[in-house]
Amino acid sequence: MLMNLHTHTYHSYDGAAETVADRIRTAKLLGLQVMAITDHVELNRYYPAAHYHAEESEQFLYDFGKTFADSVAETAKEQQSCSGLTLLAGAEIGQMTADVELARKLYRDPRVDIILASVHEMHDLPDFYFLDYSKIDIKPLIDEYFEEALRTAALDCFDVMAHLTYGLRYIPHREEFDITPYYPVIDEIFRTLIANGKALELNGSGLKKAIPYTDPDFTLIRRYRELGGQYLTISTDTHEGAFLGYRLDELEDMARAAGFTALTYYRRHEPVLLPL
Ligand SMILES: [Zn+2]
Ligand SMILES: [Zn+2]
Repeated sequence: MLMNLHTHTYHSYDGAAETVADRIRTAKLLGLQVMAITDHVELNRYYPAAHYHAEESEQFLYDFGKTFADSVAETAKEQQSCSGLTLLAGAEIGQMTADVELARKLYRDPRVDIILASVHEMHDLPDFYFLDYSKIDIKPLIDEYFEEALRTAALDCFDVMAHLTYGLRYIPHREEFDITPYYPVIDEIFRTLIANGKALELNGSGLKKAIPYTDPDFTLIRRYRELGGQYLTISTDTHEGAFLGYRLDELEDMARAAGFTALTYYRRHEPVLLPL
């Protein structure tokens, strides 16, 4: 197995009680070549709640600056004694447009290899994961999701656009939701990533569901390639060691079928190709 470039540890609020060292042990057992530790940093709640005159709740946690500091420090330390596995220090930054200057500062941290850009939330709503879809008008929310993904794609402070189509992941009966009206904006997102030398992530987290989906799906991965996309990463977005290698072989097959002959990882933000 070549890579898993999106993984969470106990530093993430929703990660299992497993350290970076635990992840390294599992990666070596699996024969993984490259692994990135990318704990959650929701940028719109980077500082403690008091900074925002807000109160912490289950759906709105704060102080993600601490997660960034702790996770990157632990990964950087483990890198010094990690042979046989390329271990990358990074973060999954959510809602990057909330504070672009801060995002740039994190991107420039000399210990950081790879930054994933994610859109998990819209406006004052919680993460898509928490939404009650029976009480929302889905269409305008998804319109806005793709517009926000496009704004994010244009930024200069990340390496990989993570799980594009995340806004669709928790829609009940996703298979009935028509994504084709969004193809023009998705094309624009892809063209922006390509022009700026950024990578697209093929995220396999949704493969655990009864009706399995990758984010984005195969049609979109192929479209990205058709438009000239060269840099593709794959991941399980795992929050527990048991899923570190989950269906990674299938994700590699999908990448090949979409026309990719290599996957990409980032070392200090510089792309490195790994032949498929
Ligand atoms: Zn995410
Ligand atoms: Zn994640």
